[in-house]
Amino acid sequence: MRISVARTCGFCTGVNRAIRLATSEINKPVYILGELIHNERVLKSFAEQGILTINLEEALKLTSGTVIIRAHGISPQVRAKLNETALKIVDATCPNVLKIHEIVKKGVKQGSKIIIIGNGKHPEVIGINGCADGEAIIIEDENLPSFEGANSYICVVQTTFNEKQYNIIINKLKNNIKLLVNYNTICYTTKVRQSEAEMLSLQCDAMFVIGSKISSNTCKLYELCGRNCKNTYLIENIEDLTKVTNKIGIQKLGITTGASTPKELVMEVILVMSSEVESVKIEDCAQEVAAVDTTATEAVNVEVKKATEVKKVKTERKINNMEDVMNASVFGLREGKKVKCTVIKADSTGILVNFGGKKDGFIDSVKAGLENYDASQYKPGDVFEAVVVENKTSSKECIMLDKRVIDEVLDRLCEKKNRC
Ligand code: SF4
Repeated sequence: MRISVARTCGFCTGVNRAIRLATSEINKPVYILGELIHNERVLKSFAEQGILTINLEEALKLTSGTVIIRAHGISPQVRAKLNETALKIVDATCPNVLKIHEIVKKGVKQGSKIIIIGNGKHPEVIGINGCADGEAIIIEDENLPSFEGANSYICVVQTTFNEKQYNIIINKLKNNIKLLVNYNTICYTTKVRQSEAEMLSLQCDAMFVIGSKISSNTCKLYELCGRNCKNTYLIENIEDLTKVTNKIGIQKLGITTGASTPKELVMEVILVMSSEVESVKIEDCAQEVAAVDTTATEAVNVEVKKATEVKKVKTERKINNMEDVMNASVFGLREGKKVKCTVIKADSTGILVNFGGKKDGFIDSVKAGLENYDASQYKPGDVFEAVVVENKTSSKECIMLDKRVIDEVLDRLCEKKNRC
């Protein structure tokens, strides 16, 4: 079996930024307004670090702490309510979403009516609609409402909307509305993720879309892949792999993920697959898009111009065992790489280790294992394995590591062996 992993697997830049802001906030307790990402394990780890997910009603009752606005953003009305509390507000709204808020606010000021193409129940769309005082026309699919009168309309689109469907809708709108200014606000990351998923699903005889059923962009990828590949599976967790009944018959498997799926979950899926079939080869499926101008301008009928020269880059690694899976740098930048660590010291905050690199590594106490952390269990010189979770640490002294994914995978393999 060959496994092709989309280069865009893992968190998008907006989600990464939100996680960084939440985890680096020192003004505790930290609350997130709505789920920061759709992944149970990561949310559990947040809770262990004192970062709790709450809703607006709960936030309004709080008297102290920090509230994080997640990447989807919020409406100006909700922001005004939060401003009235004593909470410190950390705004992790993705800049791509903020740009849409600005377009809509400006359009409303100029007297235009607003059209939003997207899922009306999604928090991002609710937040954007708030910028239009809740009066935007929301279009979810090709079925358009009737447009009467000589109004001028401004149209924006949810950042994770399917681009092909967007093009169909926008062409229909142009035929129905005389004065239409449309902004293609689908984010660059989404476009590349969708185009990689499309390419993989055309080439593979099975596709895994790893992510949550409640994640809009994961569902869009699932739909998109399902159109090209009938053996497309939405994998939320390792247990879902039992639904894949014809594993042995798969010659080429494609893997992509939603924007809020951690890379560690991809690694676990690959590992489980490689333990179930005799031979697995992983190839990075990378697309380099030369230049994509995603900046919406104010000209009438602006279409985002795509100067896209797609270059396919493939590298291949043969996978025979767990060692190979963990060492396969399918995620670029070496994040996700397994390293052998030697303990330097351990205290209540975590474990400082050396792993042969220029910098030392640090494993936060909540990432040290599946059981409750006990610093006394780690003595200088002890050796174990962990996974690099953040290596963009030029300003920090240590590379951040996580030991849980190794422990979890080893647990699973032991369980499986015991069952056999
Ligand atoms: S998918 Fe795009 S718009 Fe949405 S959070 Fe990620 S980078 Fe931002």
